[in-house]
Amino acid sequence: MSQPNILLLGPPGAGKGTQSSNIVEEYGVDHVTTGDALRSNKGMDISDLDVEYDTPGGFMDAGELVPDEVVNEIVKTALQEADGYVLDGYPRNLDQAKYLDEITELDVVALLEVPREELVERLTGRRICDECGTNYHVEFSPPEEAGVCDKCGGELIQRDDDTEETVRERLNVFDENTQPVIDHYDIRDELVRIDGEGAPDEVWEELHAAIEDEV
Ligand code: ADP
Ligand code: ADP
Ligand code: ZN
Repeated sequence: MSQPNILLLGPPGAGKGTQSSNIVEEYGVDHVTTGDALRSNKGMDISDLDVEYDTPGGFMDAGELVPDEVVNEIVKTALQEADGYVLDGYPRNLDQAKYLDEITELDVVALLEVPREELVERLTGRRICDECGTNYHVEFSPPEEAGVCDKCGGELIQRDDDTEETVRERLNVFDENTQPVIDHYDIRDELVRIDGEGAPDEVWEELHAAIEDEV
């Protein structure tokens, strides 16, 4: 069959980025992630939309959702160009989920479940390679040399929105906006729940088996 279309759902910090890397390696699909796409366009002028902030970065630094008009367009283009994908960070509200239904067909919808306090710890300790985007955690998956990427030697940085205050706001936004997205797939019996609390390799083992079951 052609390459699978996989949707990875879960709250901020659940391990979507980490597990997406495994999926890319295993299946050779594209990683489509709205968070990274928006971070590359933080300063884009969206003042013509007449919304609360003039750039995506304004919403992101406040922990709020960037308007659907902006995000839907990014996803549509990326999915059209992909031969198989793992989609991460989208949909984050019900309107986005309905839009996604119109533009693509999913083979697997997996939800990574992790308790709230663990999420706060994961996010405030997260560090990202400025060069290649690899994820680290100061405690749970530290690099060999502090502040330096194992893979490419790039500098490890903390995201502007990974502060405790913004993290808590993002988790509230998740409960309010993204929980209905989970129900949207659950009602249609399309959702596979994965225990996201174990070590990254254990989570991958369960996720991999679930994907193999569906494709
Ligand atoms: P995390 O890795 O913590 O899940 P992301 O990198 O996916 O976070 O997203 C960071 C920020 O980018 C979000 O807080 C939000 O402001 C914006 N964003 C990402 N995806 C979307 C989306 N689908 N809809 C609206 N805003 C989004
Ligand atoms: P998301 O993309 O869902 O926001 P990430 O993959 O960026 O999540 O993971 C958030 C943080 O938690 C990162 O610092 C990552 O290294 C760490 N992490 C990911 N998976 C696990 C895990 N299973 N156990 C402990 N820490 C993890
Ligand atoms: Zn790197």
